[in-house]
Amino acid sequence: MPENQTCPSCGGARGTDKVEASVELDEQGQLVPKQRSVWSPCGLCHGQGTVVVG
Ligand SMILES: [Zn+2]
Repeated sequence: MPENQTCPSCGGARGTDKVEASVELDEQGQLVPKQRSVWSPCGLCHGQGTVVVG
């Protein structure tokens, strides 16, 4: 029988935060490195948090 189980890849967290790096211009026209967190859904369960087994 198929049943839902907690995704082994993300552990049920449905995804992970990835840090994305970029370079932006500030008010003085200086290049400054920036980092921001981007939510990325799990590739195994596609953000469901569970997978169907069986
Ligand atoms: Zn997952």
